Amino acid sequence: MTRSATPKADFPASAIFDWYDRHGRSLPWRHRWPDLAPAYHVWLSEIMLQQTVVATVIPYFLDFTRRWPDVCSLANASNEDVMAAWAGLGYYARARNLHRAARQVCDDHGGQFPSDVPGLRELPGIGPYTAGAIAAIAFGRQSTVIDGNIERVMARYFAISTPLPAAKVEIGQHYDAIRPSERPSDFPQALMDFANAVCTPKSPACLACPLAAGCAARAAGTPEAWPVKAPKKSKPERRGIAYVAIDKGGQAFMVTRPETGMLGGMLAFPSAGWTPADPAYDPAVPEAGVPFAANWKLAAEPVTHVFTHFSLSMDVMVARLPGAGMAESWGRVRPASLPTLMRKVWDAAQKTG
Ligand code: SF4
Repeated sequence: MTRSATPKADFPASAIFDWYDRHGRSLPWRHRWPDLAPAYHVWLSEIMLQQTVVATVIPYFLDFTRRWPDVCSLANASNEDVMAAWAGLGYYARARNLHRAARQVCDDHGGQFPSDVPGLRELPGIGPYTAGAIAAIAFGRQSTVIDGNIERVMARYFAISTPLPAAKVEIGQHYDAIRPSERPSDFPQALMDFANAVCTPKSPACLACPLAAGCAARAAGTPEAWPVKAPKKSKPERRGIAYVAIDKGGQAFMVTRPETGMLGGMLAFPSAGWTPADPAYDPAVPEAGVPFAANWKLAAEPVTHVFTHFSLSMDVMVARLPGAGMAESWGRVRPASLPTLMRKVWDAAQKTG
């Protein structure tokens, strides 16, 4: 049901601009053509928006730009401060790469972001989509910008029958063919907002859609059937355990996780079994991996958490110590600075023992 084997340029970009001028969102990092947003803001928001929704990102973006108003102030911040400010956004490799990229821009480029896709791709954590987005939105370049939203509109408008992810090349060709020469920074943002508000994944509002007349998926009568996706593999399930020791003064025993791997560099409770880097865990003997001898109790329910590649069921053991923890590893728990999984573990520990 693909409308054409080769990309066609019969796409009413002006209708998308008209829609955007009336309904586009105001976002703290957004400027309107011909005004271009600072590259620092575009980059920061795009990294935060990878895997995270806009409503969640806004307070983090405002907090980061208040603490670190430009890329060099972020580069000069301590790793601990950046990781703590990122806590709760998830996918912590993004924060590590963010900090490394800030240092690279500050040290190697005099605080100025590269303005083209190849230069941006040299920075840690920047893939083809993010590089294209920064080049278009911050520098007004004619770059290819395909996120999941734009992908959906392209796949529907052109009724692309190749399943994702193989269809990405075809979708990119269509995007390049229909991209208008005017308002290069607005076009991808307009398409993303439009996809979010009108061409939604489950119930596209085709009756009110300015693209309806030319949309092949609408003509086929089942727009929700696009984009075509390869069958999903079910997520593997993992089992693990976390050990929470709390002293008389309410301080907890914490460790810093290794720099690489899950929750890398984050403060966390000692744990086992849930990543290849952790010690093995046998649920039949949960006390086998306790960090030190104490009166450990198993929480009534495990904590559950879903990561991109697996689902986790994590048992929690809690020890309440009669005295004060003496080693450096003891500290006051600040739930807001913990990764979400460890925050859930901490909540479960509060209800135990
Ligand atoms: S007509 Fe429907 S499917 Fe096609 S672009 Fe508009 S909202 Fe999406």
